Amino acid sequence: MSTTLTRIKNVLTRTSGYLRTVTSHSVQPYQGCSFGNSLCGVGCYVQHNGHLTRGRPWGSFLEVRENAAESYREHYERECRWARIARGKFSIFLSSSTDPFVPQEARYGVTQRLLAAMCAHPPDELVLQTHSHRVADYLELIASLAERTELRLHLSIETDREAIPGLPPHASSVGDRLATARRAKDGGIRTVVTVSPLLPLEDPDAFFARIAEAADAVVLDHFIEGDGTPDGRRTRQTGLVGAIEGLDPKAAELAYRDQMARVAQRYLPGRVAIGIDGFAGRFPDSL
Ligand code: SF4
Repeated sequence: MSTTLTRIKNVLTRTSGYLRTVTSHSVQPYQGCSFGNSLCGVGCYVQHNGHLTRGRPWGSFLEVRENAAESYREHYERECRWARIARGKFSIFLSSSTDPFVPQEARYGVTQRLLAAMCAHPPDELVLQTHSHRVADYLELIASLAERTELRLHLSIETDREAIPGLPPHASSVGDRLATARRAKDGGIRTVVTVSPLLPLEDPDAFFARIAEAADAVVLDHFIEGDGTPDGRRTRQTGLVGAIEGLDPKAAELAYRDQMARVAQRYLPGRVAIGIDGFAGRFPDSL
């Protein structure tokens, strides 16, 4: 995988499209993702963004935005003012097209410096979205930031299966991610497991019972509707749907999501949300 150092003009991107009702801005400390060749990378929606990949295979490149924290500080006041007027509050999704805790973060510290910059200049709301248990190394900093802003840590865990035939391994094991969620929650950080995209579950009752212990809420998202197309057309171009159907053909239908949401509801009453509502923190009960 090629890793390059780059500089970004303005790391605070005003959201449009799918994210528009979720947060006012998104922030990407990296461009590309080191997890692109792992399980989550197979169906990853970002690979369809030709503007971002510029023809490069997904998972083959990582651009390190080394000045991200500096850029955040530089644009903070202007973007904060704009967001409060145009969108009601200054809220950030970190990140929607990379993972803030790729393994290279240990070396480059781009996300860590961004979080430190946010401690000094907090947004009104921060959604920290990751697939990686490596976020565990930053829980103290995140807890400190949570005292200054409305923060939710979203940990993606798509299934209870540690392996899915025909797909590469997970970037982080299911067990490690659940344990990390538990540590975050126990450390006072509002923690949400995002089952996104929902893959076939081996034991739904046991899975949601474990999530109920490890997190404050759960979000279920299916590739149909969840991948930005009404029929999951984008994901059907990838190997993900064949792998889902190979295990459980019913899991490739949208009704599976609703069936699993009913199971989740038994373990996390009032704290189950579907798709975009969940990403935006809109749960029946407040967290
Ligand atoms: S971690 Fe996120 S951005 Fe990276 S490949 Fe997986 S789904 Fe895509």
